Amino acid sequence: METDVVRERLLKRREELRQRASDASAEARHEADPLSADFAEQVTQRENDDVLGAISSSARAELQQVDAALRRLAQGRYTTCSGCGGDIEPERLAAVPYTDKCRACAEGARPTPGRGRLG
Ligand SMILES: [Zn+2]
Repeated sequence: METDVVRERLLKRREELRQRASDASAEARHEADPLSADFAEQVTQRENDDVLGAISSSARAELQQVDAALRRLAQGRYTTCSGCGGDIEPERLAAVPYTDKCRACAEGARPTPGRGRLG
């Protein structure tokens, strides 16, 4: 598993999603009053929430999954299935780089332990 390559892919995907979010947010607002730097800093946190609110829920869900995948990567658990604890198939990770479940768990073929964490 070339984790550097995977991380690059995930980071790039995250940038795309964030970019899309901020585009959507700018469009949603479309009044471009130049704010003072101080004020702009104060609202940064709130703006972040607005940005995430402006993208589709599917893009937001993907962004969260990408973030989670990056965390798992950093913790060395990237290839570990969150459902059964086994290894996720490499070809599955290649197709869906942010997945946290092996194919069997993703398809519901195996019962997952009772911690249903829905986004
Ligand atoms: Zn599994």
